[in-house]
Amino acid sequence: MERWRSIITGLVQGVGFRPFLYNLARKYGLKGWVRNNSAGVELEVEGEPENLRQFLNEVSLQAPAAARIETIDTLAITPRQTEAEFKIIPSECGEISGSPLPDQGICSSCLAEFYDQTDRRYRYPFNSCTICGPRFTIIEDLPFDRDRTTMAGYRLCQRCQAEYRDFRDRRFHAQTIACPQCGPEPWLTDPKGERLRDLPHRGALGILKTGGILGVKGIGGYHLAVDALSNTAVRRLRKLKGRDRRPFAVLFRDLDVLKEHCWVSAAEERLLLDPVRPIVLLKQKADSTLAGELNPGLREIGAFLPYTGIQLLLFDEAITALVMTSGNRSGEPLTIDNVAAIEILGPMVDGFLMHDRKINWGCDDSVVKVQKGHTIGIRRSRGYVPAPVKLDRVLVPLLACGGQQKNTFALTKGDRVYLSTHQGDLDNYSTYLNYQETIDRFRRLIGCQPQYAVHDLHPDYNSTIYARGSGLKTIGVQHHLAHLGSVIANRQIKGTIIGVAFDGSGYGTDGKVWGGEFFTGAECCWERKAWLRYYPLPGGEAAIREPWRMVASYLEATAPDFLGDWLVQNGLDHKWSVLRMAVKQGINAPETSSMGRLFDAAATVVGNLKEVSYEGEAAVWFEHQADLSYCGVYQFEIWNQGGTLRIDPGPILKQVCQDQGRLSTAAISAKFHRTIAALITEVCFRLRLETQTDQVVLCGGVFQNRLLLDLAWESLEQKGFKVFVPEVIPLNDGGIALGQAWLGNLMIERGIDDVFSCAR
Ligand code: ZN
Ligand code: ZN
Ligand code: FE
Repeated sequence: MERWRSIITGLVQGVGFRPFLYNLARKYGLKGWVRNNSAGVELEVEGEPENLRQFLNEVSLQAPAAARIETIDTLAITPRQTEAEFKIIPSECGEISGSPLPDQGICSSCLAEFYDQTDRRYRYPFNSCTICGPRFTIIEDLPFDRDRTTMAGYRLCQRCQAEYRDFRDRRFHAQTIACPQCGPEPWLTDPKGERLRDLPHRGALGILKTGGILGVKGIGGYHLAVDALSNTAVRRLRKLKGRDRRPFAVLFRDLDVLKEHCWVSAAEERLLLDPVRPIVLLKQKADSTLAGELNPGLREIGAFLPYTGIQLLLFDEAITALVMTSGNRSGEPLTIDNVAAIEILGPMVDGFLMHDRKINWGCDDSVVKVQKGHTIGIRRSRGYVPAPVKLDRVLVPLLACGGQQKNTFALTKGDRVYLSTHQGDLDNYSTYLNYQETIDRFRRLIGCQPQYAVHDLHPDYNSTIYARGSGLKTIGVQHHLAHLGSVIANRQIKGTIIGVAFDGSGYGTDGKVWGGEFFTGAECCWERKAWLRYYPLPGGEAAIREPWRMVASYLEATAPDFLGDWLVQNGLDHKWSVLRMAVKQGINAPETSSMGRLFDAAATVVGNLKEVSYEGEAAVWFEHQADLSYCGVYQFEIWNQGGTLRIDPGPILKQVCQDQGRLSTAAISAKFHRTIAALITEVCFRLRLETQTDQVVLCGGVFQNRLLLDLAWESLEQKGFKVFVPEVIPLNDGGIALGQAWLGNLMIERGIDDVFSCAR
C-alpha cells in the first residue's frame, strides 16, 4: 500500500477534471481525495503501487478534451489507511497561481438536449456541463468553483443537485449546472426594457423575421442581431449603430447552412467547431444569398457557429443566418449590463432578449483565419482569453500596456504571459476608462504585482500615458520590435532573425512614422537594416482617412504630370494645392516609411476612392480584386545608404498609374501584390548574405492581407527561407503586448534601455 500526492497544473479547472479523476480512482480501487487549489488540481491517492502507476499514466493520456496539463508533480507520502472511498473535497484558497479557463462553446450532448422536446432542458439557453459553458466571463475569483462565479446565487434544485452528486452523470461537479427550474432565466423586453409576455424563442424570432434588430445578451456581452439575408435589415443596423463600411460577422444556425454560403476546408471546419468557436474568415460562395450589405465589395465572410443556448434560441426553419455584431456604440466598450443596454442600445433595437446572469468580464468574439495550416489571429478574445502564453523563461512581473488601436494588454506571472481581452481603440475615452479598470481587475484575478510597465514609444498613446502615470518603473519598446517580439515569443524562435514588420504606423526611434521595416538581430539586440524611403504624410492622421493625400505625396516627385491630371479628374486639385504648401513648409506632415500607406495609395489610384471609413478599407478592397492568373511585377530599386537598404515606393506607384486604363483592376492588383512579395524576398535575400540566417518573421497588420502573405511566404520558401508568423496571436496591434512583455523583460534582465545600441 502506498499513498501519492500529486499537483497537476495547466488548464485543469472547469473542464471536468475532478470528476474524471474521481471515476479513474474508482476504476483502480484507489482511496483518497481531489480538490481544486490555486495551482491547479491537487490530489492524494492510496492503493497498490501498480494501480497508482496505471492511474497516473491514464491521467495524462485520457484527460478531458478541453484540459491542458502542463505539469504533474508527484511524491510518495505516508499512507493513512483510514479512508473508505475517493472523494471530491472543497477547494483550498490561498496564493493564486492557477490559470482561469476560457469560455467553452456548447458541447454536442448539451446541444442535443437543447433540441430534444422530451428533455427537461429543452430550449434551455443556459444548458452546460463539466466540459462546456462559460468560464472566464462569469469568474469572480480563483479557483473556479460555483461560489466564486456569477452562478453563486442560483441554488440547485433537487434534480440538479442529484446530477451534481452522481459520478456517472455528465454534470457531476459541473460548476455551471442549471435548469429551467433553478438556473438563470431568459426573457423578452421592448426597447425600453419593459418585460413582454411572449416566450423568448417566439418573441425573438418575431422581431428577426420582420427585419427588426434584436439586442441579445450572450455570454461575453450584448450583441445586436438581424436577419443576414435581408439587405434592408442590415442597412438599417449599419445606420443605427453608426457603423462604417466594415464587414459584419454572420452567425449560422449550423454547419450545413454555413456551408451553403461559404467554402470550408477541413482545418477551417475544425476551428468552427472547436470549443473556442471563433469567427473564422471564409471565402464566400458565388451563389450565396447573404445580404450584399454585409460585406460590400468583398468576397470574404466572418462566419461562426452558436456557442451558447441563448444563440440557439434565435434560429428556426426560416431564420438560418444572423448578423451578430458587438452591442455597443461604434468605438465604445461592449455593453454587458442590462441597465446600460437599455440606455445605450435601446434606441437601436426593436426588442431585447435578456437574462439575469451577470457577466463579470466583457469578452468580444475572437476572429481568426486559416492560412497555410496556421491559425492567423485577427482578434484574440472570447474562448482564448485568459489562457496564458507559456514562454521558456521566467519573467519579471510586469504589465505590458499594449498599443493604441485594437489594444490588448498583458500581465506576466512566472513563465506565463496573460494577454487581456480585446480592449478596442484607446482614442475613445470610455474605452480608455474601461481599459484602466480592466487592468486593475485582471491584476487581481491573475495575482500579478507588476514591478514594471512596458509601453510603446509613442508619447501620445493612452497606453503610454497610463504607463507613465502608473507609479511603476517604465520601459519603452519600439512598436515594430514589439510586433516582431510577439512572434518570437509565441513561436519560441531561437537564434538570429530577419524580421519584416509592415503596418500602418508606429513611432520610430527617429521620431518618424515607421511601418515598412526590416530588422535583423536576436533577443534584445537589433538593427534596423532596411525600410521604405520616407515620404511626407500630408495632414498626419487625416491621410489615413483620405488616402488620396498619400497618392499625391508619392507622385509629387515621381509622376507630377500624371498627378496633375488625376487630381483634376477627381476634383482634388484645389485641395492639394493648399495641402502642398503645408507639406512644403513641413506643417503637419510627418515623414513615413509605412507600407500600409503604400497599399492605400495603390488601391486609391486603381479604385478611385477618395475617402475610406476605416483604416485598411482601400487595401482590403484592392486585395479582393486580384486575379492571380495575371503574372508580372513592377520594377523596384533597392539601394544601399550608409550600410542600410532603402526601397523607393514612389516609382512603384508611378507604374501602377501607367497601367491604369491599360490593364484591368484585377491584373494591376495581382501585379502590385507580386511586386511587394518580390521586394520582401529580395531584401531578405540580401540580409541573409550578411547575417547567415534563413529565419524570417512576417508581422504587422499589413500581413492580414491573405494574398500578400501567401505570395511572400511562397516566394521566401522558394529561396530557402523558413517563415514564421504568429499562431492565434494577432498580427496586428492586438498582438504587441506580448512582444512588449517578451522584449521588455529581456531589456530589464540585461539592463539595456536601447535595443539598437548593441550594434553601434
Ligand atoms: Zn455540455
Ligand atoms: Zn435545476
Ligand atoms: Fe502596428
